[in-house]
Amino acid sequence: MEKVTEYFGSMVFDERIMKATLSEKVYKSLKRTIDRGAPLDISVANAVAAAMKDWAIEKGATHYTHWFQPMTGVTAEKHDSFISPAPDGRVIMEFSGKELVKGEPDASSFPSGGLRATFEARGYTAWDPTSYAFIKDGTLYIPTAFCSYTGEALDKKVPLLRSMEAINKQALRILKLFGNTSVKSVKTSVGPEQEYFLVDRDMWKKRKDLIMCGRTLFGAMPPKGQEMDDHYFGSIKPRVAEYMADLDKELWKLGILAKTKHNEVAPAQHELAPIYDTTNIAADHNQLTMEVMQKVALRHDLVCLLHEKPFAGVNGSGKHNNWSISTDAGENLLSPGETPAENAQFLLFLAAVIAAVDDYQDLLRLSVATAGNDHRLGANEAPPAVISIFLGDELTAVLDAIEADKPYGGTKKEKMQLGVDVLPKFSKDSTDRNRTSPFAFTGNKFEFRMLGSSNSISCANIHLNAAVAEILRQFADKLEKAKDFNKTLHDLIRKTIKDHKRIIFNGNGYDDKWIAEAEKRGLMNLKTTADAMPHICDKKNVDMLTSHGIFTEAEIFSRRDIMLENYIKTVNIEAVTMTDMARKEIIPAVAKFASDTASAVSVKKSVSKAACKYETKLVTELSELIDAMDSATTELEAAIAELKTIAEIMPASEFVRDTMLPAMDKLRAAADKAETMTAEDYYPFPTYDKLLFGV
Ligand code: ADP
Ligand code: MG
Repeated sequence: MEKVTEYFGSMVFDERIMKATLSEKVYKSLKRTIDRGAPLDISVANAVAAAMKDWAIEKGATHYTHWFQPMTGVTAEKHDSFISPAPDGRVIMEFSGKELVKGEPDASSFPSGGLRATFEARGYTAWDPTSYAFIKDGTLYIPTAFCSYTGEALDKKVPLLRSMEAINKQALRILKLFGNTSVKSVKTSVGPEQEYFLVDRDMWKKRKDLIMCGRTLFGAMPPKGQEMDDHYFGSIKPRVAEYMADLDKELWKLGILAKTKHNEVAPAQHELAPIYDTTNIAADHNQLTMEVMQKVALRHDLVCLLHEKPFAGVNGSGKHNNWSISTDAGENLLSPGETPAENAQFLLFLAAVIAAVDDYQDLLRLSVATAGNDHRLGANEAPPAVISIFLGDELTAVLDAIEADKPYGGTKKEKMQLGVDVLPKFSKDSTDRNRTSPFAFTGNKFEFRMLGSSNSISCANIHLNAAVAEILRQFADKLEKAKDFNKTLHDLIRKTIKDHKRIIFNGNGYDDKWIAEAEKRGLMNLKTTADAMPHICDKKNVDMLTSHGIFTEAEIFSRRDIMLENYIKTVNIEAVTMTDMARKEIIPAVAKFASDTASAVSVKKSVSKAACKYETKLVTELSELIDAMDSATTELEAAIAELKTIAEIMPASEFVRDTMLPAMDKLRAAADKAETMTAEDYYPFPTYDKLLFGV
């Protein structure tokens, strides 16, 4: 058996390989680019490209690709081989610095929200040297950013890098005020916990909804769901364990720090968590993880479902975005620290996050809004669509004391003094217990839990970084002008707590009472993508995002359109799939069962005087349900036709929300009822019990 330490990162062009294959001069120059963003000389690029190519060919690669993250939600790649003809009929393997640094994919088919008119279809990809190149399936992958020729971002990486730069800039200003002048950079880190479902591949093949939409559009609840709580952290079945072991190995080869794996709450649901990394790398790695998860599943005759809500009635899948800010010296700015000065600095960063989440609730909400995630956030499931922060009782008591100018915990006579008093030690346990909060402080990081399992983590982190950068900017503006730093600091934190404490909620986020309370507090409740997404264009958001250089105004409007279009198209495909399954599979199956039962009645009646009460009742009820399914399908077909006539994106998204989705629910309700009354042999595809308990 190969040792993990030996094959970990074996497919990655990382520091080790760079050091071993590049001259010292080239290596140093590349490191300057990686660490400090220094421009890259073409001679250096040529040398790096040559080394990458030799290394990749030795590992069996024949192609290279610029790998990027367009607005489709998945990654994109176009493979070019290294071959180049030699005069004598042979080929040689070539890869130049120019090819490494820049690519020109035919970009006309990627969504741009009108940023790039098709007659000017050219976009380009630019190498992101901060994320290591790697080999997958015989191809050298080069992580890249994707832009239009006029410089607009057409992807999720460019704004993510910009948001990291914004928070770096503002956090450095704050640190300087605390006398911390040796820090060179501040970075955000993320550890994304990834949930997923596994289903048997043969069963999956029989369901058009899973194939087309990644989720079941029909399906009655099985006799057993998740109510016994016996799946969460339960022992892992052998077939799943083999899958997980294989998955870990593939991820480790790619240098991904896969760390934790366990069963989740719903049957057939599991989770994988990596060790946290710089946000940019974490985002690339999470995209790769999702891809590898799906690929490895096929080898085990399984299908990995990353949809947010593959099954109604059991938990959906999310992605917990564990987020922190730290300095290049390794100091975590969300860690309370040991000394009064560290405590004061911590409280300022904490206050900044609290204010950011309150002021930009809408941006955070819309950063995770998709048709799939609406089934979790809008429905009776955690976390709710309302954003709030969980701090835990201890930290909340500290903030209360500061706000009220009272001693903390009543142990001292004088009020709490920032910069003088030492904070009590928080036990990590007590801060980590709440699992229902959308945004929870967990000791030295925040866990943003609203992300959908299929979301790119980039969007959430772009908006989170941007919002926190903005509040840090406001704080720095005030503090830099302060005559008495400690007093200004104290007043600033106090005022921030007072102004934004409405966003703090330590109770049960699933509770309906909370939703009513949140409304009283004036918190936003943006239930669907159609409700949330337009807010990205609100003036306060446009002003903030553009002032930090994260998006241009044109980019913001284009992103709203792309995301809404994605919502509309997703639901439309689901609606069409539903009508297809209803007309071609479900209605005929139920009708056949009803007619077979009816013929049994006539046979029975012809030989005896049997009343056939059971059969008559069944056939009557089934006939009613068939009619209900037929008319609901007709209604849905009409909605599909009407949607085509709505040209504008916003009204179309509202139509989807108000007409199409309710029509789908109606059809589903009739079909799910019919399913429970139809003999199993007649049913055209595997039902929930088989899908959820079949692996
Ligand atoms: P759980 O949430 O299941 O209790 P943890 O909170 O220990 O587990 O960790 C969950 C994720 O948070 C992991 O991906 C871990 O690497 C990440 N994480 C831990 N510390 C930090 C940090 N300082 N910044 C960002 N992510 C972190
Ligand atoms: Mg966690």
